[in-house]
Amino acid sequence: MKSLLVVLVVLAGVWFWRSRASSIRQRPPASPIQPPLQDTVACSRCHVHIPRAEAVQGQHGSYCGLEHLHQAEP
Ligand SMILES: [Zn+2]
Repeated sequence: MKSLLVVLVVLAGVWFWRSRASSIRQRPPASPIQPPLQDTVACSRCHVHIPRAEAVQGQHGSYCGLEHLHQAEP
């Protein structure tokens, strides 16, 4: 009778350990840290995305620099 109790305790321990292990495995992976969303615009000439604050505004759109502004809007 005592051995039956030992078997039951071992089985309960195994069941507990397995359910714990599977719950740990089912945990979704930690999401990678997202960079803060920045307001960007695409250069109308080379289509490179740049922060809106750094963009050069032309008559026909935004540009990554004065060089592309002058090339696109002479
Ligand atoms: Zn550009």
